[in-house]
Amino acid sequence: MSSAAGTSGSKLRAITGGQEGLGTGRSLHVFVVDDQRTNRRLVSKLASGLRSGVEVHEFEGPQDAVDAAATTTPDLVITDYRMPEMTGAELIRQLRQWHACDQTPMIVVTAYNEQSFRYDALRAGATDFLISPVDHEEFKARAGNLLTLRFQQRILQRRASMLKARLKNRSRLQREELRHSEDKSRLVMNTVPAMVSAFDRSGHCVYINNRQGVFLGVDPEMVTEQPMEAVFDADYAAKHRALNDLVVARNEPIEDIEETLVDAHGVEYFFLTTKAPLNDTADDVSSIVTVSVDISERKKLEERLWHEAHYDALTGLPNRKLLEQQLARWLGTDGNGSPGLAVFYLDLDGFKHINDAYGHGVGDEVLQATAERLSDWAVPCDMLARLGGDEFICVIRDAPETRQVDYLAQNLMDALDEPVKATGLTFQIRGSIGIALRAAATSAPASLLANANAALYRAKAKGRHCWAYYKPELTEQAQRRIQIEAALRHALESDPGQLALALQPVRDLTTSELVAYEALVRWQHPDEGFVPPNEFIPLAEATGLIRVLGAQMLEASGRWMMAHAEPDSRQQIAINISPAEIASSDFEERCRTILARTGLPAHRLELEITENGLMDQDRETLERLESLRRDGITIAIDDFGTGYSSLQYIKALPADRLKMDRAFIAGISRDPDNRAIVAATVAIADHFGLEVVGEGVEDPEDAATLKELGLDRVQGYLYGYPQIVGSFDDA
Ligand code: C2E
Ligand code: MG
Ligand code: MG
Repeated sequence: MSSAAGTSGSKLRAITGGQEGLGTGRSLHVFVVDDQRTNRRLVSKLASGLRSGVEVHEFEGPQDAVDAAATTTPDLVITDYRMPEMTGAELIRQLRQWHACDQTPMIVVTAYNEQSFRYDALRAGATDFLISPVDHEEFKARAGNLLTLRFQQRILQRRASMLKARLKNRSRLQREELRHSEDKSRLVMNTVPAMVSAFDRSGHCVYINNRQGVFLGVDPEMVTEQPMEAVFDADYAAKHRALNDLVVARNEPIEDIEETLVDAHGVEYFFLTTKAPLNDTADDVSSIVTVSVDISERKKLEERLWHEAHYDALTGLPNRKLLEQQLARWLGTDGNGSPGLAVFYLDLDGFKHINDAYGHGVGDEVLQATAERLSDWAVPCDMLARLGGDEFICVIRDAPETRQVDYLAQNLMDALDEPVKATGLTFQIRGSIGIALRAAATSAPASLLANANAALYRAKAKGRHCWAYYKPELTEQAQRRIQIEAALRHALESDPGQLALALQPVRDLTTSELVAYEALVRWQHPDEGFVPPNEFIPLAEATGLIRVLGAQMLEASGRWMMAHAEPDSRQQIAINISPAEIASSDFEERCRTILARTGLPAHRLELEITENGLMDQDRETLERLESLRRDGITIAIDDFGTGYSSLQYIKALPADRLKMDRAFIAGISRDPDNRAIVAATVAIADHFGLEVVGEGVEDPEDAATLKELGLDRVQGYLYGYPQIVGSFDDA
């Protein structure tokens, strides 16, 4: 422009101002190009008066005008046609090449007769013509219109570019806002205590949050757009692709998927996973969001609770609940044609003795050692459980025929027979086993166990340390036991007339003097008739009814003695006492109270306690008995010889007499073995200052042998049957 201005020599600057000038923000530039100075000045003068804000640039040579256009865009060009450097048409052509000038109105001034020049100028892009010499009014009209048009065009352009700029600005702001909100949601996603990932429908990663990244050991930015297989392991990818397809197909979430996932360090975690579709505006699923919450702690707690509910805390073996569940499964899935299932119900003989003598700590250790022993049993059983106490269950699913089951039972007993060590002590544990085979049983786990228990009951009745099979009769017996128990309770509590006191005489073997009576209970059941004590006493012992019965027997015996026995003699009444009675802490006091009430002197009362019953007692109970002995009450060890005590224990027991069991007495005159046993017992009893009584003497020859062996007292049908002397409700 400086060259243009310089070359042009004179540059007219019209006074700019007014609305239009301000509105456009700059002047309206009019280029006047003419090699003839006079013409140029004239046209310039006319142009500067066209409207306010006009700035006229005069150029003598067209090339100067072209150069000036590079810096100042003309709003109107008025050019002569004939010029030495280039024609007006050529000037227009060159100016039109500038993008800025393509809308600029351009007027060519030609002489009247120069028609061909006008065509040429039109082709080059001229907008209008003026005939030289220029008519002032025509010039004002034509050039003025073109300049106004240009002026408005410029306003429009300016508005358009302003709008464009505003639009540009707004979308920049929107983009910023979006980025800001994306950052915010990213922040939220990174703080939620869950792994979050989104994959598009084709299985490419859209997003994973930091927690997911840390779990996988990857940078979240790096896995974006990667296929699922490149982000997760193959199993996860296969499973989750299928799940994602399902979410897309249904267009609804999938909840509560529990899964185990392994992190980048190989540590296993439990997750609760939810999947949800992410819809685009057309309501089509664009991606699938997966949220996984770590539930490892909850899972561990659940597992612990489950374990506690299904396993025995002491031995770690399954408990009854788990056993029954497992049995139900096996019994349900095994067809009837399967070889059958065998349940071995084990009970340790004399375990109570260990507990009482050494304390529960040692008892627990013995149980643990037993559980280990059974776990190591050479025969692989399908389940080993502890039901509580000293009861264990072995289950064999495919038990072979009975002969082999016998073999297994023997094997199991042998395994238990091995001594067990606990806190440095060695214990000889022995067991009894009840066996229930599925073939002979119902298919309900509880009744199968009940059957095995009935068989165990029978094994114990057979004398323990053996096994017995369940038979349907055992169920009948068990049912009968329940009925008898109910009837006995009724008799004791509401109908004491059913119960009676029977007495059997005991004589001095040397003098034949009546020295005592044994008190034996008799029960006349209203429907069943006489029920033998051997049937209902064990039941009364098992249910605790024995304490009521024992108290009533003692009361009836005391009353009878005071009413009928010779007042000054030393005749005694011997009462059978069950272990369950003496074990209760108020036994001592109960004895004394009843003696006081009936008036029977203590030295006229003898308590008969079986050998096993006495052996099973703890120190405290033995001390209670000792205290009663100090009162004058005597104690006899009943059924002596049938228990498992060794003779050396006797000296530690609070006893005055041994009652040799009938098994050694009956037929002793013809049995040298029994004779030897009784002779030895008499010798040891003598040594400890104990008397010996022979029970169940029926035969005079046996009586003679006993006399020979030096027994003190005898009792048996030979001397008198038990005789009922009155019922419990006799006043
Ligand atoms: P036990 O204490 O050994 O009583 C002796 C049992 O032998 C009695 O049977 C008696 O009738 C029976 N007996 C006596 N002499 C002979 C004989 O020469 N030959 C034969 N074959 N038997 C004879 P019972 O009355 O059936 O009593 C059985 C068991 O029941 C008793 O055995 C005792 O352990 C228990 N018992 C009986 N009454 C009571 C009681 O009131 N309380 C407790 N706790 N147990 C009792
Ligand atoms: Mg007795
Ligand atoms: Mg006896």
